Amino acid sequence: MTVLSRKYGDKAECLLCPHSCRLNEGQYGICRVRKNTGGTIKSETFGVLSALSLDPVEKKPLYHYFPGYNVLSAGSYGCNMRCDFCQNSGISQSGCEIINSKNILSPEELVARATEAKDNIGIAYTYNEPVIWFEFIRDTAILAKKRGLNNILVSNGFVNPGPLAEIIEFTDAFNIDLKSFRDDFYRKLTGASLEPVKKTLKAVSGSGRHLEITTLIIPGLNDSENEMAEEADWIAGELGRQVPLHLSRYFPMYRRDNPATPEETLKRLFEIASEKLDYVYVGNTHTGVGQNTICPDCGIKVTVRSGYSIQKINLDREGRCSKCGKVIYRYFSFSSS
Ligand code: SF4
Repeated sequence: MTVLSRKYGDKAECLLCPHSCRLNEGQYGICRVRKNTGGTIKSETFGVLSALSLDPVEKKPLYHYFPGYNVLSAGSYGCNMRCDFCQNSGISQSGCEIINSKNILSPEELVARATEAKDNIGIAYTYNEPVIWFEFIRDTAILAKKRGLNNILVSNGFVNPGPLAEIIEFTDAFNIDLKSFRDDFYRKLTGASLEPVKKTLKAVSGSGRHLEITTLIIPGLNDSENEMAEEADWIAGELGRQVPLHLSRYFPMYRRDNPATPEETLKRLFEIASEKLDYVYVGNTHTGVGQNTICPDCGIKVTVRSGYSIQKINLDREGRCSKCGKVIYRYFSFSSS
């Protein structure tokens, strides 16, 4: 089991993420939910839920992991980033001060709910940053796996290699944000840094676990053609051109009031990323491009999407293109759509 904190003089140092918070007794870390209690840093949110919902797996977004199925999605509070454009700030930028103590489930109770849910492939740890919920997701995910459920982590990827290695053991699929391909963006706008996120992406990809990536495109901040070309080039070279990339449309939220991303920008960046990557999608909008899945080898349409509803077409029972045999989905079942 990973050691999550250690003694640092008369303080305790958190080993979970690269912030390395050094906390006095009773003090909370940057994430607002991990606290030095008796010389050990632990999450104060074990089992505390901010939201629980049976979502289409496409909403995570994961487009290449059991498409058409649901996943029971659970979130808590807090985050180890401070993005001023956060699209979920009501829960992510709050800590223990707003916890509703009535909304608590044990790992056993959450797994039981997941087992009963319709067309459900497992549990997604999402909505806020799940890494800071480490103890709860570990206990729940291990139990969920024993019951035949899959575990999905939707994360910002800002985590140290040791805890990440343990997370990879009990997680089946990841969607990780790559918020920008510029370190100064990370430092100025998120309070974190780029390099640890790149290391996380490489570790997840190297583990063979399912990986998809999301980049929220914000006008004037990370929407340049050069940056998109560099990002797509890096993903193709380091992780593989088959890794799906979701370009998500930004809307003004929290402390940032730049106007919503123009559709034209999303189309342009979609074209650039598609030169290097097999599966690029455009989300949070109904723009015509980047909704469907096209076989990268023979060019026929294999999945039609409209919002979160999907139609699987021109696919065999193993998730291969029925025209040329290319494997489109490694994790696939025909029955739900
Ligand atoms: S997980 Fe929280 S307490 Fe630990 S280093 Fe990161 S921000 Fe600090």
